Amino acid sequence: MSDCIFCKIIAKEIPGTIVYEDEYVVAFEDVNPQLPVHTLIVPREHYDHIGDDISPELLGKLFATVPLIAKMKGVDQTGYRVVVNTGEDGRQTVHHLHIHVLGGALMPIRMGPAD
Ligand code: 5GP
Ligand code: ZN
Repeated sequence: MSDCIFCKIIAKEIPGTIVYEDEYVVAFEDVNPQLPVHTLIVPREHYDHIGDDISPELLGKLFATVPLIAKMKGVDQTGYRVVVNTGEDGRQTVHHLHIHVLGGALMPIRMGPAD
């Protein structure tokens, strides 16, 4: 996807702090971290969202990366939150599937409807 910001980070066309990459998956730091640890895990190939006909194998590879990143970022013992915002109600703003790994502090918010 030529106009996708995450595809550009993956292709190293624009800067990104990549912390992990393999054949299928890339992880990089969120540019606007909401907590001390805020890393995004994305498939190397472009998918708009989690419902975009992605194979169970690739979904498995993406989610298997979560504990690797948690350990790398030092939150595997203290805990963290894993978030996949999807679509309009899910407030997804970048339409390249990504998993947020958030931690390093007690979560300030709980799930619930918007104010
Ligand atoms: P969403 O709201 O779609 O679940 O999350 C998109 C995330 O991507 C946000 O947390 C936002 O800060 C992050 N983001 C947006 N643009 C960029 C960028 O150019 N580089 C990086 N590293 N993160 C970005
Ligand atoms: Zn993309």
